[in-house]
Amino acid sequence: MCVNKSRIVEIAKDLIKYKSLTGMEKDIGEYVSGFFESIGVEYGIYEKEKGRPNIIANLGHGEKTIAFNGHLDVVPIADESMWETDPFSAELKGNRLFGRGAYDMKGSCAVMMHITEILAKEKLNGNLQIQLVSDEEKGAKFGTRHIIELIKKGKIKKPDCVIIGEGSDLKIRNGERGILVFDVKFKGRAAHTAKARSDAINAIVLASKAVIAIDREIDKFHPEIGTPAISVNMISGGKVKNQVPGECVITVDRRTIPGETKETVFAEIEQQIDRVLGRKSYEILNTLYGPANITPKDSSFVKTVFEVIKDILKTEPEFYVGEGGVTDARFYRYTGMPTIIYGPLGEHAHGPNECVDVDSLEKQANIYLGLINNHFTNRR
Ligand SMILES: [Zn+2]
Repeated sequence: MCVNKSRIVEIAKDLIKYKSLTGMEKDIGEYVSGFFESIGVEYGIYEKEKGRPNIIANLGHGEKTIAFNGHLDVVPIADESMWETDPFSAELKGNRLFGRGAYDMKGSCAVMMHITEILAKEKLNGNLQIQLVSDEEKGAKFGTRHIIELIKKGKIKKPDCVIIGEGSDLKIRNGERGILVFDVKFKGRAAHTAKARSDAINAIVLASKAVIAIDREIDKFHPEIGTPAISVNMISGGKVKNQVPGECVITVDRRTIPGETKETVFAEIEQQIDRVLGRKSYEILNTLYGPANITPKDSSFVKTVFEVIKDILKTEPEFYVGEGGVTDARFYRYTGMPTIIYGPLGEHAHGPNECVDVDSLEKQANIYLGLINNHFTNRR
């Protein structure tokens, strides 16, 4: 049995029809386990919290283990009137399949499930893990991070390498920016509006000057990851209409590149704020940080992936250096497992009229089969 594009579309449509918002993955999980059950493939369900399933299908036995990972959860619909189709009806128009999650990333999950049915009856010279997980969109505590905990405890076999199917335009994405989220709390002096020009120090004004100083382009570049990014994404301050606010808090999301750390970024930010405020009237709080991470281009895994793709597509694959967000790949890289992202073409992940290019799903499936075959046969 070889790759069948319409079969991938059929499975993807089934997946899209589940409204599997993060936290609501129970029903789609049952569909996925039913699927593995129906093709006679061994699988396990791993839940850190009840109703948040992670399903791992296991094919073949042997020393070598290769894992594919995809998430089943999707983000909500912000404004349904912006959609040209019902976001959960999964409509195919020409080469494009529309719906929430089509591109991010139920199309890829369908590819992985299709591969499982292709290989279900084959004798594999190693272990193939298909991991379909919950909770990617909200930090992966109940999803991939839970699986990694179980790998560390020896309850799930440790893969030699991991391929994640997030959209990558059929390019190899071997690294991603880090994420540093934090609050800055500005302290002024509250007073009656009548005293605004004498007694009071307006914390919203302090914050405003700081926002203008830090929310800007950052002139740095890393060849495998691109540029850093910063955005002030939340602000809150003021209690009543007739009182100058004494406090204002902003939330900043800063994406980092290799060479940057939490400390270097904070030093940079403090310098920029101090320059416009002239005094230390703020503090940085509630920090959340995960560094930039790369599986190097010259690692044997990335080199192998490159060669396999070149062989199948008859052209040298490109590397993806874009404005991508963070993915579950980082958790695997933090534990030292070689990890890449390789996924389809598509548009509008998280936005209205999200869609995936169906031809690219077919290519992706052939590449995945090639990677599995290569891992179990040729690898040193
Ligand atoms: Zn995703």
